Amino acid sequence: MAKTVLVTGASAGIGKATAIYLAQNGYNVYGAARRTEKMQDLKNYSIKPIALDVTKEGSITACIEQIFTEAGNIDILVNNAGFGSSGAVEDVPMDDARYQLEVNVFGAMRLTQLVLPKMRQNKYGKIINISSIGGKIAFPLSGWYHASKFAIEALSDTLRMEVKPFGIDVIGIEPGGIRSEWAAIANEHMMRISGNTIYKEIAANAEKATANMNLPEPIVIAKLIKKSIEARNPKTRYAGG
Ligand code: NDP
Repeated sequence: MAKTVLVTGASAGIGKATAIYLAQNGYNVYGAARRTEKMQDLKNYSIKPIALDVTKEGSITACIEQIFTEAGNIDILVNNAGFGSSGAVEDVPMDDARYQLEVNVFGAMRLTQLVLPKMRQNKYGKIINISSIGGKIAFPLSGWYHASKFAIEALSDTLRMEVKPFGIDVIGIEPGGIRSEWAAIANEHMMRISGNTIYKEIAANAEKATANMNLPEPIVIAKLIKKSIEARNPKTRYAGG
């Protein structure tokens, strides 16, 4: 029987490409994000779109419950929803910093908590956490983004050891720069937060550098995710892009 996958952040970029690629390769795919209007086209690939805000407990539990009711369980969770909050550490309001961790870390881990019991029962499960090259190295003006991805790396390592005995694999994916909505959102944050402060020159240079980058398409990461899911003995992490 087709494995059931939940891909979060399926309204754009890596998540959308992954949902489509997995559906095209025989998986039963649910795609989740806040902007349901941006997921209507997924229905053309038999992907079921679900409204999900990973910062809201009620939204998370409703999403998981819907899939459990319709499909019985979730075999593979792709924790992809995320964004890059930018700005100098000195400038970033603490509420923005907390929100970055709410989305990129707590959202992913809450979803993980909810899918694990059935995965344990079935002695099968794959938790795919989309980290980043920014979960290994850090640059100026992205401190809270790096903090979120370093946290995902650490949580993935811990979780992997905890759940391996139950037949569940935890895999980190570390994309480099990929063409998506990510850079525009991160640049908007950076300029709003540090565009007029003592850090404005680094901000302007960073914005210019990312605007000119010729980045690979998200399908590169979608393929890496499928490869990691299907590997007999998956590596702990896969880098690409
Ligand atoms: P996009 O901005 O194109 O897509 C981000 C996705 O996350 C959207 O579908 C968005 O949906 C979703 N999302 C954001 N906030 C929430 C939320 N609160 N609840 C539910 N969904 C949310 O970026 P990418 O595709 O590039 O990013 C995907 C992942 O890859 C992220 O974790 C990112 O950090 C990581 N990554 C990206 C890289 C890149 O260069 N692009 C490099 C390394 C890692 P909606 O707004 O509709 O809710």
